[in-house]
Amino acid sequence: MSKLVNKPFMMANNMTDTITKPDNNTAKAVPNSNTDRQSWFNRPIPGIKQHLTAPLSAVETEPSTKCSNCHSMITNTALIFNCYVCPHCDHHLPMSARERLNWLLDQVDGETGQEFTAKDPLSFVDSKPYPARMSEAQEKTGESEALVAMYGKLRNLDIVACAFDFRFMGGSMGSVVGDRFVQAAEKALEQKVPLVCFAASGGARMQEGLLSLMQMARTAAAIERLRIAGIPYIVVLTNPVYGGVTASLAMLGDIHLAEPKAMIGFAGKRVIEQTVRETLEEPFQRAEFLLEHGVVDEVVHRHQLIDTIYRLLAKLCRVPNVDAQ
Ligand SMILES: [Zn+2]
Repeated sequence: MSKLVNKPFMMANNMTDTITKPDNNTAKAVPNSNTDRQSWFNRPIPGIKQHLTAPLSAVETEPSTKCSNCHSMITNTALIFNCYVCPHCDHHLPMSARERLNWLLDQVDGETGQEFTAKDPLSFVDSKPYPARMSEAQEKTGESEALVAMYGKLRNLDIVACAFDFRFMGGSMGSVVGDRFVQAAEKALEQKVPLVCFAASGGARMQEGLLSLMQMARTAAAIERLRIAGIPYIVVLTNPVYGGVTASLAMLGDIHLAEPKAMIGFAGKRVIEQTVRETLEEPFQRAEFLLEHGVVDEVVHRHQLIDTIYRLLAKLCRVPNVDAQ
């Protein structure tokens, strides 16, 4: 019985709570913001659970990429505007060769070395035949080979620039990569304009055996011709540069720049650990470690990279620096 008696009393209490009490201090009652904003249709009804759907964030609606370092999702548009640098942790994400060159050059006048196509001189088969592996890489990247070479303008300077595409069979150097690099160097030599190379490679291409190893000597000879003619050659070491590319064109620059935390070496860290039977601590083979040991001239953040390349080239070519004016 006591429950029955209590119930109407409780209801009366609840009802008084919902009614706005007249406030003596403020003459005009402040309107209840909740009820004002919500229409009667959206007003929460006690006892009915409401599943409120939050508006979708940009990463849920737009094509996005996951940062390999901090695992946060970044929209592709934000990444392109930030030069593929993670806005959360400053990690430098990989850039494709074509994006890299289009980003560097203010004006692209043309592409060189597109006429070279890879052959299969050894009829090499590992888990797949070499031609099948090639067409798979071509389909994946939209490129015909692992090196793209372009010529054009960087501000008031004419330059030739080439970039490795690491997505294309690990940016490995086969005979076509060698051909394209040599042709780019010859173009620079002929026009007396500097050469810039963005290296990102796993090394020589094993599917071409000795022919890929020969490219080390060919590219080194082409760089030597540039050196004799007094034409600047700048290498930008991006993550990662290993093997035959490190042992040739990537370490023969007049100036070596590197992106932060890029892995640069000849043999991989694990191979060296197994050989010397020692554990090699971080930052072994990182750009900062190589800077300390004199292999790299400067570690440059991607946001400052174009300015640094331009400043160096303007100085080396004795061209007035348009940024300084
Ligand atoms: Zn990140």
